[in-house]
Amino acid sequence: MIDFLKLTSLEDVTEMLWADGPAALLIAGGTDILVHPEPFSEKKILIDISQVDELRKIEFEKKGLIKIGAAVTHQEIADDPLIRRRAHLLGLACAAVGSTQIRNLGTIGGNLGNASPAGDSIPALACLKAEIILTGRDRQRFVPILEFFKGPGETVLGFDEIIEAVKIPIRKGRTVAFFKKAGQRKGMCCSKASVALIARRHSDDRLSKVCIAMGAVGPEVIDVPEAARALEGQVLGAQVIRAAADCCCRAVRAIDDIRSTAKYRRHVVGALLTEGLLEIFDHMSKLKKRRKRRLRRLR
Ligand SMILES: Cc1cc2nc3c(=O)[nH]c(=O)nc-3n(C[C@H](O)[C@H](O)[C@H](O)COP(=O)(O)OP(=O)(O)OC[C@H]3O[C@@H](n4cnc5c(N)ncnc54)[C@H](O)[C@@H]3O)c2cc1C
Repeated sequence: MIDFLKLTSLEDVTEMLWADGPAALLIAGGTDILVHPEPFSEKKILIDISQVDELRKIEFEKKGLIKIGAAVTHQEIADDPLIRRRAHLLGLACAAVGSTQIRNLGTIGGNLGNASPAGDSIPALACLKAEIILTGRDRQRFVPILEFFKGPGETVLGFDEIIEAVKIPIRKGRTVAFFKKAGQRKGMCCSKASVALIARRHSDDRLSKVCIAMGAVGPEVIDVPEAARALEGQVLGAQVIRAAADCCCRAVRAIDDIRSTAKYRRHVVGALLTEGLLEIFDHMSKLKKRRKRRLRRLR
């Protein structure tokens, strides 16, 4: 028998965890827990946090930060106007999760808590240099996204802590970004491999401040500084794109598993990066043509 508690305040949740942490299991959307019920056997209390007010908000904070509560769903993130304007990459990743039903239930906190290397929000959060806020009864700590994971299914979260929110620093200037994933089908499936990229776009089409991260191709999400360096200060062209794609393929640390093979994953990350960069190239070419037309009209 397991007791079920639905709490609505963060204080009550942290009190419960402080008192009964090892016996308690948090549930938000339930889209991971309910299909992998193994942890239930060791737990005595299931705490539903899906309606905790403090965890349900997306807020703009001072110092150029966006704070996203852990119980905000993927669909809410994808649809949010602030995210669309200032952290579009995360919106793209959340829009690529599962299906409408999964996106309406599954939360960003659950995606992190599950700690799957295939979690789609994680490469995007890595590119955005997000920090996770972990809260306990008497303490709060801020953990950089990639330091949160210790391996597949393992995190630094303590028994008495909850993921309260994710903080994302807003990038300055015009940015380009994409999130690409390869799965068994086009929808309703987890990633075999994924690639996220964000960069600043300059008026002469050069890219700078490039960040690239890959999901599902190693025990944790991998950031790829070598691939980012290959694009830094460059205008996109065939050679530059090929060099960055090669770096991504080399950085893969995948194994053969139920979803795919290491060989396929090594190949597909290069293809995903190339596809995303070609879309950016097309987008920038269109902008250039529009600029030229506008100039001609002014003359
Ligand atoms: C059919 C299907 C398709 C899917 N497709 C995708 C996909 O394409 N991409 C993808 O990334 N995922 C996918 N998933 C996995 C899942 O939907 C996501 O990981 C989702 O974000 C989980 O969120 P949740 O709120 O449902 O988590 P839950 O199932 O409620 O919880 C998951 C884990 O996180 C812990 N947890 C939850 N909230 C917190 C918190 N605030 N603090 C600490 N721990 C917490 C729980 O204790 C549990 O261990 C899919 C799942 C299914 C069933």
